Amino acid sequence: MKRLRNVKILATLGPASSEEAMIKKLHEAGADLFRINMSHSTHEMMRTLVSRIRAVEKECGRPIGILADLQGPKLRVGKFADGAATLVAGQTFTLDNKDVPGDATRVFLPHPEILEAVQPGHRLLIDDGRLQLIAVESDKTSITCTVVNGTKISDRKGVSLPDTLLESGALTEKDRSDLDAVLAVDDVDWVALSFIQRPEDLAEVRKIARGRVGLMSKIEKPQALERINEIIELSDALMVARGDLGVEMPVESVPGIQKQLIRACRKAGKPVVVATQMLESMISASVPTRAEVSDVATAVFEGADAVMLSAESAAGDYPVEAVQMMASIARKVERDPNYPGIIYSQRPLPDATGADAISLAARQIAETLNLSAIVCYTSSGNTGLRSARERPNVPVIALSPVIQTARRLSVVWGLHCVVTDDATDLDDMVDRACRIAFREEFGKPGDRIIISAGVPLGTPGSTNMLRIAYIGSDGMTGI
Ligand code: PGA
Ligand code: MN
Repeated sequence: MKRLRNVKILATLGPASSEEAMIKKLHEAGADLFRINMSHSTHEMMRTLVSRIRAVEKECGRPIGILADLQGPKLRVGKFADGAATLVAGQTFTLDNKDVPGDATRVFLPHPEILEAVQPGHRLLIDDGRLQLIAVESDKTSITCTVVNGTKISDRKGVSLPDTLLESGALTEKDRSDLDAVLAVDDVDWVALSFIQRPEDLAEVRKIARGRVGLMSKIEKPQALERINEIIELSDALMVARGDLGVEMPVESVPGIQKQLIRACRKAGKPVVVATQMLESMISASVPTRAEVSDVATAVFEGADAVMLSAESAAGDYPVEAVQMMASIARKVERDPNYPGIIYSQRPLPDATGADAISLAARQIAETLNLSAIVCYTSSGNTGLRSARERPNVPVIALSPVIQTARRLSVVWGLHCVVTDDATDLDDMVDRACRIAFREEFGKPGDRIIISAGVPLGTPGSTNMLRIAYIGSDGMTGI
């Protein structure tokens, strides 16, 4: 199964898409990897979804990535005696540590660390920013606020604190137990970390994960942007989490931040996913708005690695149509005459490494000679990542003997991943690359490909060789 596009599609699973038949349909429609949202999934459900995805993978013979998304420190107020209360602008409203139902003057905030951290002048945004409070006084057990705009507040609404640096680490108790469950399954490729604030948050998770999963940092807080370069450095991938980012920052700053993050990740050679509300209206309609189509197109033109569907595929009425729509937008945009120029204008220079020099040369040769594919041998995934960083205009086939590498690379721009044994010698390396390029329909006998590898074979970090080869007349050998 060959995808006729570079950008990858990450589809969230949920009530509308938890059956194996539906997961299979979404994969056939174009989903390259799946997200399991731990905010809504029990451990039992997570395990069930993982095994269903693996069953689909087995049937179709293509590696599929799985991302488990940890909820992170999502803060919520307690409950109200009447289920809700109406607040008016200018009134005083208190959040405190008393676990009793709230009213129009106060509510319980079940996060003692927040009661301590909020300082006078800090904003508290409730219910995705619909209700705004400003802290005027704080005595460690309660925060007295002024209501900026009057509206209703109801049970368990979310609280965002754009001005407050929280002392807690990246993982809540729930996250720890979810992460343990995910690692115990030993079959998940990526873990996404919500509300990352600083590089130290990642160090903590990295210690627990010990390389068993890739770490994707969700950028949804202004604090994370302040130290973004260090965060990118310590992450394996990034998500532009526009939902919460647009609550914690003014919405109009989100597009600029999206561009900044995509460019920084392309420079670093780390995969970047653009997420949330991409085809939002398709939750209940079979066609998207023109603005949504443009939004997906913008991410594709920027060269993002992947675009994500949230409720559209997890809980909407048209999950398959949403995936199909994303795939057709991507195919169309990537064939637009302006696409190569826009992509190349942001191409980063190579680092002074063998892998980068070889990836750059492979792209130039492939483009100059109009070759059918670049085939790279990659066991850790690094050569795959560095080849994709070049954003070549010919397909890249990433060959790996490690299934986990192939699955993890499923989020990366343009990579068609195939699991195959390490080559035994140089002839086998050429034959194997040609055979797979032919079998996967990237070339026919007589077409040429370029192969990058490290000699001695099977030595990680040794990428040092390029070879141009013809697909033999039988498709089974290389010349
Ligand atoms: P969420 O993250 O869907 O888990 O909230 C994405 C976002 O905030 O955009
Ligand atoms: Mn979020």
